[in-house]
Amino acid sequence: MDEFDIVIVGGGVVGLAVAFQLSRNPAYTNKNIVILEREKNFGMQTSSRNSEVIHAGIYYDTESLKAELCLKGRELLYDYCLRFEIPHARIGKLVVAQSGQESILEALEKKAIENGVNNLKMIDHALLQRIEPALAASSALFSPSTGIIDSHSYMQSLLTNAEQQGVIFSRSTSVESIKLEDQGFRLSIIIDDGRLRQPYALRTKILINCAGLGALNLAAMAFSELELNGFDSRIQRSHALPEQLFSKGSYFNYTGRNPFTHLIYPLPDSENDALGIHATIDLSGALRFGPDAEWYEHIDYSVDPSKAVIFARSVQQYFPTLDPSKLKPGYAGIRTKLKTEGAPSDFVIRNEDEVGLPHLINLFGIDSPGLTSSLAIAGRVESLLAETT
Ligand SMILES: Cc1cc2nc3c(=O)[nH]c(=O)nc-3n(C[C@H](O)[C@H](O)[C@H](O)COP(=O)(O)OP(=O)(O)OC[C@H]3O[C@@H](n4cnc5c(N)ncnc54)[C@H](O)[C@@H]3O)c2cc1C
Repeated sequence: MDEFDIVIVGGGVVGLAVAFQLSRNPAYTNKNIVILEREKNFGMQTSSRNSEVIHAGIYYDTESLKAELCLKGRELLYDYCLRFEIPHARIGKLVVAQSGQESILEALEKKAIENGVNNLKMIDHALLQRIEPALAASSALFSPSTGIIDSHSYMQSLLTNAEQQGVIFSRSTSVESIKLEDQGFRLSIIIDDGRLRQPYALRTKILINCAGLGALNLAAMAFSELELNGFDSRIQRSHALPEQLFSKGSYFNYTGRNPFTHLIYPLPDSENDALGIHATIDLSGALRFGPDAEWYEHIDYSVDPSKAVIFARSVQQYFPTLDPSKLKPGYAGIRTKLKTEGAPSDFVIRNEDEVGLPHLINLFGIDSPGLTSSLAIAGRVESLLAETT
């Protein structure tokens, strides 16, 4: 049976960033590190189904991990893009308010400043008309640190850099069960390349769970082993696995002319813990709208064409000359949200030392701004590892 020092489950942007980060750390130079990814290639789930926006860190609760890691991650990501020539553009974004909504915009500015985002500018109607003539809004908050990135190039670069340092990427490899052993974990996996389906097993000392939407399932595999071993249920309850909700976000491409030079966001949809249907420009200049937010029980990436009507109504509030016939179904992504008592869902990154598994690192609830935060998340994982190894 193959033996590894570190297994990273999940080859999305977070798993790849963790692999990159560890592969550069001299403490892990001679360690065997492998990424196990169920899909045929890296980043085929949530990491290729997002807005590709580098967020500034405006929205998140000040004490949250999202606020901290978004701000750190944003700067690390811009530096990475420059260093490894990843296509990106710091085009800036406008969060717009309609008449009567100005106080909400001011509250947003206050929260951003508390988070350490100190370069926002309030823009009045007259100036807005000059910089974005197609925009209808009474005022806007301008965020110059917001940008866009070619996330595929970024993920490819993370993987190439990690592989150059000896990390192995095992595609079409699904972790099916976990057994606890004295010195770590024994994983049962299936390697299925579409032609051949082969069961296989491996051992690892450290297990890092970056499985995105599958992270809670994976953690439950290890926790159910604890139950079998008669682990004290009181401690387990105090450190129980969180509950997960799926929030689906659909996008529509716009085949009409793009009149905007900035990303345009309405006020956030706090009821659904989402940013509202925004206008995103990709690096080729194409315009798309989304994502909306819809609670789902399962993973379903289809886009309902009839939603074009709702999208048109929502977007026309800030882009009144939008031609609804030019909205074409694009793609959808699923946000992993953790059930909380009314508070917005936050990232959870923890080693499971409280249940006696310090070498299991779980990452839960890595929804937006997970792409922006990826390198800071990787840094957090690296610190947790340093504390426990
Ligand atoms: C609609 C939407 C818009 C967003 N917009 C932005 C944005 O503009 N900016 C931003 O910063 N963030 C954004 N995000 C958030 C960002 O996309 C995610 O935080 C990020 O992609 C999460 O990466 P991940 O690696 O954790 O998950 P994933 O990309 O889903 O990767 C997890 C991987 O684990 C694999 N896996 C799961 N279970 C197993 C198993 N048992 N065995 C092997 N492999 C397994 C999966 O196949 C998958 O590839 C958005 C998210 C959504 C849904």
